[in-house]
Amino acid sequence: MYKYRMDTGLNSMVRLFYALVIILVGFNVSHAEAQSSEPRESSKKTNVIIIFADDLGYGDLGAYGHPTIRTPNLDRMAMEGQKWTNFYVGASVCTPSRAALMTGRLPVRNGMASNVNRVLFPDSHNGLPQTEVTLAEQMKNAGYATVCIGKWHLGHKEEYLPTSHGFDFYYGIPYSNDMDNISSFKSAGDYFSFWRSQERKDINTFNVPLMRNTEIVERPAEQHTITKRYTEEAIKFIKETKDQPFFLYLAHNLPHVPLFASKDFEGKSPRGIYGDVVEEIDHGIGQILNSLKETGLDKNTLVVFTSDNGPWLIMNEEGGSAGLLREGKGSTWEGGMREPCIFWAPGQIAPGVITDIGTTMDLFTTFSVMAGVPIPEDRIIDGMDLSPVLFENKESPRKEMFYYRGDRLYAARVGDYKAHFITQDAYGPEKTEHNPPLLYNLNIDPSEKYDVSKDNPEALEIINKVVKEHNAKMVKGPDQLKDRG
Ligand code: MG
Repeated sequence: MYKYRMDTGLNSMVRLFYALVIILVGFNVSHAEAQSSEPRESSKKTNVIIIFADDLGYGDLGAYGHPTIRTPNLDRMAMEGQKWTNFYVGASVCTPSRAALMTGRLPVRNGMASNVNRVLFPDSHNGLPQTEVTLAEQMKNAGYATVCIGKWHLGHKEEYLPTSHGFDFYYGIPYSNDMDNISSFKSAGDYFSFWRSQERKDINTFNVPLMRNTEIVERPAEQHTITKRYTEEAIKFIKETKDQPFFLYLAHNLPHVPLFASKDFEGKSPRGIYGDVVEEIDHGIGQILNSLKETGLDKNTLVVFTSDNGPWLIMNEEGGSAGLLREGKGSTWEGGMREPCIFWAPGQIAPGVITDIGTTMDLFTTFSVMAGVPIPEDRIIDGMDLSPVLFENKESPRKEMFYYRGDRLYAARVGDYKAHFITQDAYGPEKTEHNPPLLYNLNIDPSEKYDVSKDNPEALEIINKVVKEHNAKMVKGPDQLKDRG
């Protein structure tokens, strides 16, 4: 400091000149970087890990208020990173929700949402069309190694598997872990009594395949150890790929029922088997974070954790909890589509609780931007870039959320308000159309208890206008889920 005070006027002018040169050069460099569609230097690229749970509800983590499920690793991620409280998925059931994550598009646009079958089944003919651009393809174009571990559920035939959609490697059960059930149910009552029976505790009841790339390597998959093995594969991949930027998509099959935990976790959680399963997933996440630290990758890796849809409430104690949100999986109430979401990247992401709106579709756009790959311009991409929130402490660009069931728009949110045009039980056939729509202020009333449509005509007007614009641009893709058998 003393030295600077002794500077002469001439020295000050020289410093000013150099400062100007530095600013101009710096501007040109950053301008060139911003304009360039070329991927950034490999060594500078941030690794991306998406950890996706299945049917885990908004209220199922310690950090989101569960009293007896112990999730210390996710809770720590939430403390060190950003905990989002208004984060949504693209649909309230598995297949369309995963299509939304992978493509950054509402599944209705590519036919991955259907009124005939809500998800893909083992006898489904189709899957995610090849014409779609996946997040894995985006990352691969940016020079990333790409791996998918776990549940895919976007088509189990070779042309639809992860290895045909931008992933270098796949290891997992290609659809839900309750499929290929060997029991035959004569009625819905049979089906539900099955879930209360001892039979469901037998892995042989679910003849699901475990695949490595395009080959079946185990059938039925040993589900007691599936979470543990997914974690081990993830850690192996991280260690083997540490010198190259990587994108790891780890989509656990659990806590979708049937629930299975390994010996170290079974019978340990006060929450019962559902808690055992979630605690084992959390433990695996702790191991993954440790492996990042051991390899020195923790400074250059972004980890995001969320779930594909809300809790499967009809499974009673074996289903999860949406906490204070209404309803669960299968419905367009908040409990079906709002999920816990934690972003973790120490030193890069400013820690905090984020109440702005985000969606899984935004991950497509955010990570493409981070990797330096252009967003496809030949189609509508619903994803938005959340990096200003993650890295610059700014507002989320997203103010809207559209809630589809099959190919129909049931509800829409703009800002604080959500309007329901149609409501329906998660699995009930009866639907109710609302005119005027039901209106809830989600920030004041996250449980959607108090219809305020009468007092807020202007909020409804705004939502109607946004929906009208949305509908005007909507082109629905041909139904990819309907053909079976
Ligand atoms: Mg699910």
